Amino acid sequence: AKEAGRGRYSYFTGIMSERADQRMRTEHDLRFALANEDFFLAYQPKVRLPEGRITGMEALVRWRRSDTGEVVPPGEFIPVAEETGLIVALDEWVMHEACRQNRAWQDAGLPQVPVSVNVSLARFDPERLIAHVRKTLADTGMAPQWLEIEFTESQMFTHLERAQELIAQLKALGVQVAVDDFGTGYSSLAYLVRYKFDALKIDRSFVQGLPDDPKHSAIVQAIVGMARALDYRVIAEGVETCAQADALQRHGCHEMQGFLHGRPVAAAEFAALLQRGSVA
Ligand code: C2E
Ligand code: CA
Ligand code: CA
Ligand code: CA
Repeated sequence: AKEAGRGRYSYFTGIMSERADQRMRTEHDLRFALANEDFFLAYQPKVRLPEGRITGMEALVRWRRSDTGEVVPPGEFIPVAEETGLIVALDEWVMHEACRQNRAWQDAGLPQVPVSVNVSLARFDPERLIAHVRKTLADTGMAPQWLEIEFTESQMFTHLERAQELIAQLKALGVQVAVDDFGTGYSSLAYLVRYKFDALKIDRSFVQGLPDDPKHSAIVQAIVGMARALDYRVIAEGVETCAQADALQRHGCHEMQGFLHGRPVAAAEFAALLQRGSVA
């Protein structure tokens, strides 16, 4: 029994140290990738129905590994970047690249729509973020109203009191602020009244249940009604089927983002979409 116990012990510590090794390798590779700028952005359209007009785009980071050429999705490295603090530099690079690209498209005469970037609050550093927004807008010459920052509801809730000041400062700069993954953050609704956001993004988990699940329909309707009352734009995430899009419109949500209307694509491909101005 003693032998077996020891065996099990080393088996589990083996798994744990393997995970730690893996994490350290990812951290090391991420540091290198940041210095090397081995990242690129994929852009996904936000559209307004029924016309299908493109009203915005979300910039989503991708890592192209220089060793294997493999493209790594953010779900596989954002958590490590958050744990190690590398996320701050990564988000800064993303914001700069998204604004540079948006400005380049504008200069090329393409129809201009706002670009949204995701900013992690895992390392909450409002002064640094504000300074970076100012610098990015100055460097790229992009006007502030074309930049939107998405914060997840859950991360904002973690910093509920101090986030208020951050949001106010961003708004003062003229940048738009959206609440991402709305409905999953377990936060008090009072903060929606206190803060001044521009948009709420209904989490994909609620959209998935449409049109048949009455509970999900009720939640979506409640969010749309609240967004209207508070004068926020409301965008449904993860729309994959026509039936979902129809239900959303019936519930009063006309702006959406999902595979149905366009997957995230690299800049060159997105430019063609932007030129058309609509996904219809
Ligand atoms: P998110 O901000 O909620 O972004 C939406 C995610 O849903 C994207 O995954 C997008 O590709 C995916 N998606 C869009 N439409 C559909 C759909 O119809 N069905 C399904 N199943 N999925 C859809 P992606 O690009 O893998 O990003 C995952 C998450 O990683 C993002 O979720 C965001 O939290 C994070 N992320 C991405 N880029 C950045 C970044 O630059 N900085 C930070 N801090 N986080 C980022
Ligand atoms: Ca987002
Ligand atoms: Ca989201
Ligand atoms: Ca999400």
